[in-house]
Amino acid sequence: MSESLLKKPAVHPFVECPNCKQLLEYGADVCPRCREEIDSDYALVSAVVVHHNTQACSLANSIKGGDAFAYIAIAGSAFIYAIDVYAVGSLALFYFIVLWPVMPLLIILVWFIRFGRFRIGDEEYLRAKREMRGSLLLWLAILAVQLIVIWASWSRPPST
Ligand SMILES: [Zn+2]
Repeated sequence: MSESLLKKPAVHPFVECPNCKQLLEYGADVCPRCREEIDSDYALVSAVVVHHNTQACSLANSIKGGDAFAYIAIAGSAFIYAIDVYAVGSLALFYFIVLWPVMPLLIILVWFIRFGRFRIGDEEYLRAKREMRGSLLLWLAILAVQLIVIWASWSRPPST
């Protein structure tokens, strides 16, 4: 958050009207909708909050879009497992497939570190947070199944 404060935001910052919740351009003295006066200190804080909220939601949207790859990862895991078992005879390529869920899991983790404790987020933010929990569970489940498959192959006595 501190870096987004220092950096000039790429998009025009918005301020939420304290009275009617309308988004206004930063720098407006009065809300054009309800004529509420906008205090400049309030405007600065609100602009930061709105910016943080927007960032959290748009990043969550992209991460959620990656959920589609989870199903490809499941199919890919099964496919590579089959190649390992039938062509190699033991797990070889399968160890690398564990790296597949690691990347999205790291990205989701970073999301939670950056935005997870944002207590004044709006409903859109709360929905984004629920979606991030869903994505987290999805990728964790895939990783868990992969690790179980590897563990099972280790605990099985080597076939002669
Ligand atoms: Zn207003």
